[in-house]
Amino acid sequence: MRVFNFSAGPSMLPLEVLKRVQAKLLDYEGCGMSVAELSHRGKVYEEINAETEALMRELMHVPANYDIIFIQGGASLQFAAIPLNIRINKKADYVVSGNWASNALKEAQNIGKHYGCDYKAIASSEDKVFSYVPKITKSMIRPDADYLHICQNNTIFGTRYNYIPDAGNVPIVNDMSSCILSEDYDVSKYGVIYAGAQKNLAPAGVTVVIVRKDLQDKFAPECPTMLKWKTQVDQKSLYNTPPSLSTYMAMEVMRYVKELGGIKAMQKHNEEKAALLYNFLDSSKFYRNPVNKEDRSLMNITFVSPSSELDDKFVKESEKAGLMFLKGHKLVGGMRASIYNAMPIEGVKALIEFMKKFELANK
Ligand SMILES: *Cc1c(COP(=O)(O)O)cnc(C)c1O
Repeated sequence: MRVFNFSAGPSMLPLEVLKRVQAKLLDYEGCGMSVAELSHRGKVYEEINAETEALMRELMHVPANYDIIFIQGGASLQFAAIPLNIRINKKADYVVSGNWASNALKEAQNIGKHYGCDYKAIASSEDKVFSYVPKITKSMIRPDADYLHICQNNTIFGTRYNYIPDAGNVPIVNDMSSCILSEDYDVSKYGVIYAGAQKNLAPAGVTVVIVRKDLQDKFAPECPTMLKWKTQVDQKSLYNTPPSLSTYMAMEVMRYVKELGGIKAMQKHNEEKAALLYNFLDSSKFYRNPVNKEDRSLMNITFVSPSSELDDKFVKESEKAGLMFLKGHKLVGGMRASIYNAMPIEGVKALIEFMKKFELANK
């Protein structure tokens, strides 16, 4: 039996995509083997690689002056890759809107301290347990910063940017790990967009980096070959063995997103699902969503019951009802429903029904 998986990641994949992958698992389109067994130097995989890139470009309307690479290491390795790929004035500004954003800054500082770099937080929402997204104005950003780093959707705390910061000529580097393909973003407003796959795109393994061409030759001399975006741009993501199965599954996911009507259709679906749950939370006297209303995430919705004992009970009982992994992150407690692209609206409705029953039995 398939359950509703509310995990923050790895997360649900569309059932239809899993079925398509299953049907081709033993013999991919007549080649007598699975994609997992295919050489990445052969024509079949090259086609998969090219179509994955083309689909992402089409779905996200990625302009021609950007390249898209599919690589390994997760979003977390990009935390280190960013300061090694863009080094001009040895300074960069970070907005600390959650744990991942904080990790990105720490990783940059850890590298930068050996090379006289000044990487700093220009704003943080830690004062209120990251329950809001700081408002960034141009005057807060150093005009000679190499980049401004932001995290679009704060997976753990359930917030997201509802605006695009004006950074002037400073390129914005955006961690979109937990929201890529969920909303229509204007790629041209960012210098670099990166995301681990395992929330909205594919199984864990592949990481996508969308990088503007003028930011590809600013790398530091010590930047390892494998971390250099240009290495993979020049080799069309095939410098070394790619995470082929996960990249292939990203292709199947994006084919499916396209069939459903593209990102605009996904966004509408996501807004409907989120509105259903937020409206329920807002009308409830038992549950509460702790984040600033304007900054609410469409993907990760946090909530608490009247006590931490009831929260624990909620998590245990919801799993018995087939609603999996609703436990909030240990930094926040309570519950978190991650409702990425692949979560059907039926899953959200089932969650709300369970929440109503749980309230009746426990208030
Ligand atoms: C999950 C997540 C990460 C970490 O991704 P990995 O691929 O596991 O390194 C980074 N940033 C955000 C916003 C995330 O949601």
